[in-house]
Amino acid sequence: EAKKDKRSSYRLFNTMMKEKLNHTYVFENALSKALVYNQFFLLYQPIFEVETGKLFGAEALLRWRHPELGILAPIEFLPIAEKNGLIINIGEWVLRRACSFINKLKEIEHSSITIAVNVSAVQLEEDDFVYKIKKILKETKIDPSCLELEITESTAMHNIKNIAQKLKDLKGLGIKIAIDDFGTGYSSLSQLHNLKIDKLKIDRSFIKNINQDATSKSITAAIMNIANTFNLVTVAEGVEELEQLHVLQELKINMFQGYLYGKPLKEDYFIKYMDKIG
Ligand code: C2E
Ligand code: MG
Ligand code: MG
Ligand code: MG
Repeated sequence: EAKKDKRSSYRLFNTMMKEKLNHTYVFENALSKALVYNQFFLLYQPIFEVETGKLFGAEALLRWRHPELGILAPIEFLPIAEKNGLIINIGEWVLRRACSFINKLKEIEHSSITIAVNVSAVQLEEDDFVYKIKKILKETKIDPSCLELEITESTAMHNIKNIAQKLKDLKGLGIKIAIDDFGTGYSSLSQLHNLKIDKLKIDRSFIKNINQDATSKSITAAIMNIANTFNLVTVAEGVEELEQLHVLQELKINMFQGYLYGKPLKEDYFIKYMDKIG
């Protein structure tokens, strides 16, 4: 009896594994075709200056229109794309798309807008990453100062030697570099000092309670001190309430983004939005 039980539970386990594998296989297969079928698109989330409220630029955020599952956020497919290497081509598509948007903005006389693009560790660790960027800049002929690359703190601090040189080369091209999700990684200050970067983006987890919780506020003030020491611009992520913005004003944070004034928008809506706010 016991033996039979064991066998049937094994069979059940086996079926579940197969389903899971099959599911992963089907998902990965769809992901590998998403570029060809033009299923990716970018949303642009406005970034504002805290002091003036002026629009500074936008962050490009990737979405996948999955044929059956609908619109998927990066967390639902980027980890897989990073694991199987698809991120290389997807990331290149994102960069080209964002650069052509920069050109479009220039055509309609919004040439002072900066577009920030997220770059994953897998992309940055490729030997030819800087070369690829150079190529894209040449092909799209954008003003490099309109492009900002965002790399997360953990990406930057991982394999720091390799990355430090690349950031230097990228800066040499006239591109700006921001450290994303700052405060969640494990930066050493001396390493941060050696990285050629322009900006720190303070992670949403600190901003979330900044108007209620003294610790969040102190941490943000401490990050502000680090940024000032290294001459870096600061951006607060995930600002949803006016009270949070008031604390940012008090702490003299330079810029902010968040649902309060700017949800991520499709290209044409972003343009309409810019026209509306002047
Ligand atoms: P991130 O770079 O830190 O981007 C900010 C995330 O916070 C975005 O999520 C944005 O929609 C969300 N957000 C902005 N304001 C608010 C707010 O007020 N409240 C809340 N609750 N959320 C807010 P999203 O678009 O899901 O992107 C998640 C992450 O995926 C990004 O975090 C970035 O690390 C990554 N990602 C997005 N697009 C790309 C891409 O093209 N390439 C790569 N490598 N990574 C990307
Ligand atoms: Mg980002
Ligand atoms: Mg971020
Ligand atoms: Mg984040």
